Amino acid sequence: MPNPKKPPGRPKVSAPPGGADAASRRPGGPDAALRKLGLERDIDLALHLPLRYEDETRIVKLRDAREGDTVQIEATVTDCQIQYRPRRQLVVTVDDGSDTCVLRFFSFYPSQQKSLAVGAHLRIRGELKGGFLGWQMVHPGWRAAGGELPQALTPVYSTVASLPQAYLRKAVASGLERADLRETIPPDAPPAPGDATAWPLRRALQFLHHPTPEVSLAALEDRSHPAWLRLKAEELLAQQLSQARSRREHDALRAPTLQAGPGGLHEQLLAALPFRLTGAQRRVSEEIAANLQRDRPMHRLLQGDVGSGKTIVAALAAAIAIDAGWQCALMAPTEILAEQHFRKLIGWLEPLLAPRGLRVAWLTGSQKKKERQAMLELVASGEAALVVGTHAVIQEQVQFKALALAVIDEQHRFGVEQRLALRGKLRDGGEPHLLMMSATPIPRTLAMSYYADLDVSTIDELPPGRTPVVTKLISDNRRDEVVERIRAQVAEGRQVYWVCPLIEESENLDLTNATATHEALGAALPGVMVGLLHSRMPGPEKKAVMSLFTGGQMAVLVSTTVIEVGVDVPNASLMVIEHAERFGLSQLHQLRGRVGRGAAASACVLLYSAGDSGRLGETARARLKAMAETNDGFEIARRDLEIRGPGEFLGARQSGAPLLRFADLLTDGPLLEWARAAAPAMLDRHPGLAEQHVARWLGGRQDYLKA
Ligand code: ADP
Ligand code: MG
Repeated sequence: MPNPKKPPGRPKVSAPPGGADAASRRPGGPDAALRKLGLERDIDLALHLPLRYEDETRIVKLRDAREGDTVQIEATVTDCQIQYRPRRQLVVTVDDGSDTCVLRFFSFYPSQQKSLAVGAHLRIRGELKGGFLGWQMVHPGWRAAGGELPQALTPVYSTVASLPQAYLRKAVASGLERADLRETIPPDAPPAPGDATAWPLRRALQFLHHPTPEVSLAALEDRSHPAWLRLKAEELLAQQLSQARSRREHDALRAPTLQAGPGGLHEQLLAALPFRLTGAQRRVSEEIAANLQRDRPMHRLLQGDVGSGKTIVAALAAAIAIDAGWQCALMAPTEILAEQHFRKLIGWLEPLLAPRGLRVAWLTGSQKKKERQAMLELVASGEAALVVGTHAVIQEQVQFKALALAVIDEQHRFGVEQRLALRGKLRDGGEPHLLMMSATPIPRTLAMSYYADLDVSTIDELPPGRTPVVTKLISDNRRDEVVERIRAQVAEGRQVYWVCPLIEESENLDLTNATATHEALGAALPGVMVGLLHSRMPGPEKKAVMSLFTGGQMAVLVSTTVIEVGVDVPNASLMVIEHAERFGLSQLHQLRGRVGRGAAASACVLLYSAGDSGRLGETARARLKAMAETNDGFEIARRDLEIRGPGEFLGARQSGAPLLRFADLLTDGPLLEWARAAAPAMLDRHPGLAEQHVARWLGGRQDYLKA
């Protein structure tokens, strides 16, 4: 019903939160909506911070207002009439002494019309639109003028339709009142940057929910206000505490100690290599070797840009494990990768293993039953010192005799369960050492905050003699020029990749089908062998195509993204990526890494198509721009984080793990450093406070993923 006394813009409140009112608890009622928003405990409500604020503390003069402002005015009605064009509406003109404003209501009750009669003095709140006919507000909130103004800004919370803002405001206010907000940050914690811990938690929260009007809205919006800093420091500390705890749990585990002996397999392998390790490779190898000597399981990420030479580092680690009488497992995300990528590695190791009566076993999903059985026996007897394969390596039937080291290549492509399964493969209850490899470097702040339980080794140097890849963005309607480029490269004896988006999606999304591209290129390049590789091809056929390309007979390989990882053909000098706008940034970078592996000048062409709209989307444009501007994997990763945000960046690993709600890894590095330093001391000296702190922030979500 109309109610002129109602405060502007506020719907009727049916019941106080937490009250026994049956209507509020029925499914679809406001309490159900609160639960849906995850606002169950008092602390959850207290931490549900406003999206923005409305300033109802001031009365503004129309003369001083700007277009688009949401303002509160007090004015007198000078005209009130119903108009019928373009549709029925109540049109009310008000004057506040400085200017006039027209209020429009498209639905209204007769009694409303009455209280908006000429002469009424009103407090009106709404968004100002300026037309050349003067100020207007559509459906403003209004009540009789006069009465006290609130002292604080009015919070606006994110909510859902079934949960009115006014109800939520009350719920939050009483949650804030009741919540246990005792200080948990110990007095002996180091002072946080920006004086973030100067504000007590209760005060900070009270302030953020109900800031005083003189506060800088900019400081609230960009979260640089000390109250915000306090909250972010709290949140980061909780995360670091939970990370430090899982790190300690991990440290309590035991693993075999593995030591590289003089004259052993490790030295033999080094001596047999056709190249010298780069300084970075030597350094990370030493880090890994030192880690393997300890009786704690290694949990290390080896990151290095595409082509930086991670495989040999893994092989050297494997040599140490094998030399000590243990087995090593190597797992890659695809069969092609498992084959291509580790071929060299096996080429290096197998001749050294044979004289010792040891072998390399293969395990892949497509194996014949008999072959697989034979491999499983080799693994179980321990004769297979090295076990290479896809996720088939971790299936239940695979029993290792003595697994000491597991290497996971392209770790981000494996799910958490798969990594956990690999860790459970050691017979006597201990843990194998774990080395994960990735060409997608994790930005430092991200590593610190989500992978604090992980050691990181970084190869920051490419082997000598590589030429940087030149990246070109070319519109799809200039395909002909690209075909000319291919012709020129092939004439020089070089090889070319042409990558198409996934064939599965091609029908639905109207993408160029790899098959059609293959045919078109074959026709445009007579006398040139153009091959096709896609994920639906049977394994042996894939193998045959790959070996023609790696052998150099095939000049052009049209492929879906199956070549994304691991293929190493140094003679390839041109990479064409079709519909590049549809690929993720790290995927593009990985693909580009397939060229520039030899001495020849190499190029990557990103063919893009803006589609019907004629415009690329904003993120697609940002990705392509990043590709054109840098070859540096770390910079790419940083931009990827910027474009996608950490949630997506982390992928499978973080599903269910608490993401940061308040802190921002891009801007809150110093606070993160502080939290990281403060957490271990707090666990040692104030375990009770640490417990409380983590419970407050993470609630039921503290089961951090430990894989
Ligand atoms: P990624 O880090 O992408 O897995 P790879 O391990 O496949 O890289 O190495 C890329 C190529 O560089 C391989 O052909 C490898 O044999 C070669 N390589 C690795 N280390 C060196 C080095 N120190 N000097 C010269 N070539 C190297
Ligand atoms: Mg690799």
